[in-house]
Amino acid sequence: MTKKLYLYNTLTRKKELFEALNPPHVGLYVCGPTVYGDAHLGHARPAVTFDLLFRYLKHIGYKVRYVRNITDVGHLESDADEGEDKIAKKAKVEKLEPMEIAEYYSWRYHQNMDQMNVLRPSIEPRATGHIIEQQQLVKKIIESGYGYEVNGSVYFDVHRYNEEHHYGKLSGRDIEELQTNTRNLEGQQEKKNPFDFALWKKAAPEHIMRWPSQWSEGFPGWHLECSAMSTRYLGEKFDIHGGGMDLLFPHHECEIAQSTAANGNESVNYWMHNNMVTINGKKMGKSLGNFITLNEFFNGEHELLERPFSPMTIRFFMLQAHYRSPLDFSNEALEAAEKGFEKLLKAGETLDELKGSDKTDMDLDEFEKNLYDAINDDLNTPVLFSHIFEMVRFINSVKDGSAKIKEKDISRLKDIYNTFVYDILGLEREEKDEGENHLTENLINLLLNLRLEAKKQKDFMTADKIRDELQNMGVIVKDTKDGFEWELKK
Ligand code: ZN
Repeated sequence: MTKKLYLYNTLTRKKELFEALNPPHVGLYVCGPTVYGDAHLGHARPAVTFDLLFRYLKHIGYKVRYVRNITDVGHLESDADEGEDKIAKKAKVEKLEPMEIAEYYSWRYHQNMDQMNVLRPSIEPRATGHIIEQQQLVKKIIESGYGYEVNGSVYFDVHRYNEEHHYGKLSGRDIEELQTNTRNLEGQQEKKNPFDFALWKKAAPEHIMRWPSQWSEGFPGWHLECSAMSTRYLGEKFDIHGGGMDLLFPHHECEIAQSTAANGNESVNYWMHNNMVTINGKKMGKSLGNFITLNEFFNGEHELLERPFSPMTIRFFMLQAHYRSPLDFSNEALEAAEKGFEKLLKAGETLDELKGSDKTDMDLDEFEKNLYDAINDDLNTPVLFSHIFEMVRFINSVKDGSAKIKEKDISRLKDIYNTFVYDILGLEREEKDEGENHLTENLINLLLNLRLEAKKQKDFMTADKIRDELQNMGVIVKDTKDGFEWELKK
């Protein structure tokens, strides 16, 4: 029952029963971050989506080789082949070696992913570590007649490819449409057609990330690394390739063309794409000022945020939506998610306190089946959570005496809870923050008790000083009959 996992394949535009090419092994490749800045929601969503898939595939018994790359070279300013390398640009501005930039932001990315309980992939290859593989792929593509060299650069011949294959099949485009939509960009004079894309680019004198090759001293094209590294670690044919919807075109379209040109067949069995994230209904963008990094969410230091939101709140919020639906962030939505997550954790604690009875007022077989049916249906987490919250309500009814559960079913429910909440959804208690909250609470109470003492001693100066200083720190103090009450300013 549990192994009947259906996944929506972007290529066929259908939900398909997942069948591994070489069971129990599964090869999963996901496009990772370009490391020239802190991770933001656009990085977190694919990471969380494919972490869920990784965890679930393992849960149902597959041995998954999960490859997620780090792009540390070759990503340019736009979809065009021209423009400055983002990492090199940052390195120049900050007077650093490009590898220092890549290393620093890779480290920060890992830190954020650990905070969000995203499991590390099995292999995390870097583009700069696979220049030879990329050059070999360029050679193969030239040999098969789909690549041509001009002035030390090599381009993919989209027109020639499209005579035998459909360039645009993944994103649902055709070449005529591309022809009319391609703007005139500088440097395209070299190409036979404006939509041909670079496999190897000769480096301009100011370009600092460069490698020797038989064509020129230069750097690999934008889309080459994923084709080269997926082949290297997962073979010419592998199970699942994932990434954000923004990578569908041109990145993944070009990957298909490259593999087909080099190997004679497509390499990917199932293409999966997560939808995009918006903030207060708007697309994220540097120019819109709504580019909130994960660190800013965690510390609350962004003008659009009313307060900090914890990594688990962000993770829970993302998982509440289906990965193929757009997801809009707002303070209100995050507050609601935080409350929901607290309720879920509280139910877990309540579960430990329940007392067994002579009957169980819930069909646990059906409940468990509902959970698997939901996740097997293309990772339908919104439906999954609706069932999980049925469980939360049931646990609370047992607690308040309006429902009953047998002793043995308590432990079964605990197993189901742990399996889904912790193992599959990857949620966890944020103990450290709770500890900090407790400490803060105790310190505030201590100060206010000292203030009470001062008032008894008629030392009103000290009493007022404590109240005012706390007020400045955002603690609102109210005197009551029995002593005091306080709350944190929202
Ligand atoms: Zn990629």
